[in-house]
Amino acid sequence: MNKFNKCLIIAQSRLAALELGSAGKEFAQELSLVCLGAPVSAEGVDKVYALADREQSVTAYSTAIAALIKEQGYQLVLAEQCRNGRLMAGIAAAVLGVGVQTDAFQISAGEKGIVTKKLSYGGFAALTEESGSCGVICVGAGMFPAAEEKEASEPELLSPLSSGISTLERKEKLVQRTNLAAARRVVGVGRGVKDAESLALAEKFASAMEAELGCTRPVAEEDHLLPTSRYIGVSGVTVRPEVYFALGISGQIQHTAGCDQAGLIFAVNKDEHAPIFKGCDFGIVGDLNKLLPKLMEALANK
Ligand SMILES: Cc1cc2nc3c(=O)[nH]c(=O)nc-3n(C[C@H](O)[C@H](O)[C@H](O)COP(=O)(O)OP(=O)(O)OC[C@H]3O[C@@H](n4cnc5c(N)ncnc54)[C@H](O)[C@@H]3O)c2cc1C
Repeated sequence: MNKFNKCLIIAQSRLAALELGSAGKEFAQELSLVCLGAPVSAEGVDKVYALADREQSVTAYSTAIAALIKEQGYQLVLAEQCRNGRLMAGIAAAVLGVGVQTDAFQISAGEKGIVTKKLSYGGFAALTEESGSCGVICVGAGMFPAAEEKEASEPELLSPLSSGISTLERKEKLVQRTNLAAARRVVGVGRGVKDAESLALAEKFASAMEAELGCTRPVAEEDHLLPTSRYIGVSGVTVRPEVYFALGISGQIQHTAGCDQAGLIFAVNKDEHAPIFKGCDFGIVGDLNKLLPKLMEALANK
């Protein structure tokens, strides 16, 4: 694949801007960045755009971003896979007359364009999509290493469109910020962690390992033991730590697709036939409630 000439990155968070910066460098020659959040720049980015008034909803900037794509002739748009990033990806796709490649667990250069793979049929099949000479791709956290941050030169400000809608009040959504995607060690907990007591034990273990705590989707979405920002997998965060500990996780592909790039995977599961044992480097068959105190004792005596 020949590199695209011009790529527009649309990112809300600083980390996404840096990660998409390195993705952009891989696929395109000239990079511009629209910061939906605080202005930032990454190594390799030639031009930075920022929102003139961040109190306005991001939707108010869709016309300005669409105009930018048309005027500047970007052929590739890489958008952060967050709510606002997806929204802008849809707008970009409409301008370019292409579809959006989203929810990818793998992104690479193909013969004609960018090839993405995503799970389909509830994880039983992988769908491969390839962009043509224009492409719009939503990129999830942790898919690319972060580029070096660069001193942001004066960004060009995009003007919001007066939409007739005004913001009356803003309430901060209470989310626990996590930096799972960048963590060097991650302890992931699954439904084998059944209650607050087991969770406290796993948290203690994570802190002894100086690791971030992640989880499977049902732990966050069904059992509500941890916030949804912490679940790892095809519809959650992708992690690439040096070490990943899977505690009480069965190892379904929807989860492992988000952690199988870890350097080393350790698994603890009481079921010796659990699929997680097929993909891990070291496995212990046993009850995590009994094993974790022993592992922590061993760590303390090291
Ligand atoms: C479209 C779609 C998207 C999805 N996306 C995601 C995603 O992004 N991320 C994700 O995680 N899931 C996702 N899922 C859900 C996924 O298919 C699995 O259901 C989920 O990952 C299973 O979570 P789990 O391993 O915690 O639970 P379970 O499958 O219930 O496994 C629990 C494991 O804990 C073990 N265990 C129980 N007690 C103990 C104990 N005391 N000590 C040690 N081991 C114990 C059991 O043997 C079992 O293996 C998705 C599903 C669909 C259909």
